[in-house]
Amino acid sequence: MEKDCIFCQIIEGTKPASFVFEGDRVVAFKDANPSAPVHILLVPKKHIRSINDLTEGDQPLMAELFMLAKKIAQEQGIAQSGYKLVINVERGGGQYVFHLHLHLVGGW
Ligand code: 5GP
Ligand code: ZN
Repeated sequence: MEKDCIFCQIIEGTKPASFVFEGDRVVAFKDANPSAPVHILLVPKKHIRSINDLTEGDQPLMAELFMLAKKIAQEQGIAQSGYKLVINVERGGGQYVFHLHLHLVGGW
């Protein structure tokens, strides 16, 4: 938990968000400024700044994140029509919130 991190605040429940999933290690909530009809953020509860900060021990966590993406895409009814999974990395890669997250976008 990083007190100045908005995603940590959402995970802690001190900042509101529209959750679609909460598990022991990962959560998913709707993006506040969606860029597609379906735009969900999948976020590890552990505060990891970006992909650059992953360690070997984070492998199961990342696998869980991608398996959750598959499940949520099915639940949202966009699995067959198709979707994008995007991870922005650091400023040059378009990352604005420095708590690792996976964008699930689709439904066009
Ligand atoms: P990034 O550019 O870091 O990959 O993506 C950050 C995403 O977080 C953006 O799509 C932005 O709309 C979303 N976002 C920023 N602040 C909030 C917030 O307070 N709540 C929610 N639900 N999404 C947010
Ligand atoms: Zn955080």
